[in-house]
Amino acid sequence: MDKYIPDIYQQSIYTIDYQKLKDCGIKCLLFDLDNTLVPAKIDEPTKKVNELFKELKKDFKVIIFSNSHKRRVSTFSEKLKVDFYHSACKPFTKNFKKVITNNDYNISEVAIIGDQVLTDIIGGNKVGITTILINPVSPIDSFFTKINRHIEKIIINKLTSRNLFFKGHYYE
Ligand SMILES: [Mg+2]
Repeated sequence: MDKYIPDIYQQSIYTIDYQKLKDCGIKCLLFDLDNTLVPAKIDEPTKKVNELFKELKKDFKVIIFSNSHKRRVSTFSEKLKVDFYHSACKPFTKNFKKVITNNDYNISEVAIIGDQVLTDIIGGNKVGITTILINPVSPIDSFFTKINRHIEKIIINKLTSRNLFFKGHYYE
């Protein structure tokens, strides 16, 4: 069951203790896009995301690492002035490994931040990077994510029944 459990669980990208991540040796932050930075239907980064990224870029290499298509992901990366990987095929590990080796990082130096256990967390745990789960910013999901959410619910219920994970009980 370990592969389903995030190392860190926070309410949103704004409640993560980035200083602590830096102190723990994290140098590169991979951000999921849809429902992590903005709702899946929003086509541009908000002012709040922009301000957060501006700060984070002072301390980290920041990369948008999304399963979404190139046009959408590149628009965000241009506006936020960060690198991106589109169609990342999370939870498959191929592109996780690619982004880590291409940027010359150790697995201990990279963290993934995302809203889905089935893509962001499983993928990150499989390669051994730090995994950070946050709540989706919007209750509205795309078609495939809706299916994932259903499975995720079953997994979380199982984890909760084994005292391994509780929705809303945030930890670092
Ligand atoms: Mg997402």
